[in-house]
Amino acid sequence: MKYIIKDLKIKGITLTPQRMAIIEFLKNNLNHPTAEDVYKALEEKYPSMSIATVYSTLELLKANGYIQELSIRKRGKACFDFTSKNHHHFLCLKCDSIIDIESECINTCPIVKAGQLEGCKVGEIQAYLYGVCSGCNKKTIKKSNKK
Ligand SMILES: [Zn+2]
Ligand SMILES: [Zn+2]
Repeated sequence: MKYIIKDLKIKGITLTPQRMAIIEFLKNNLNHPTAEDVYKALEEKYPSMSIATVYSTLELLKANGYIQELSIRKRGKACFDFTSKNHHHFLCLKCDSIIDIESECINTCPIVKAGQLEGCKVGEIQAYLYGVCSGCNKKTIKKSNKK
């Protein structure tokens, strides 16, 4: 958090209290919030904040490599990850939760191994997995047991 503030100041980017609040929120909410999630969480405390501020701050943080925008969509909306670290994501199709999967499989990835890339050099791999999370899975099991 502190390094971001320092870093942005060096870059000449002004940090308004609203921008600080957005960074703080992202730091404490690693569940891949959408811009709307951020806005909803902060609008009460910062009534003058607009969704445009949220978008522009997210863009700014993204451009500077502090957060990543995921290609996976939550209710059709882009979501953000407060890390530039490479990892995979699992999206639950029932509850929309996104779970981080830490795995360095670049050297063992079967697609890379299969040599189907014809001269392309792989720099990073980000996989998106879709299915039903453990929480939702348990609920379905419970339901089917009741029958
Ligand atoms: Zn789920
Ligand atoms: Zn993530």
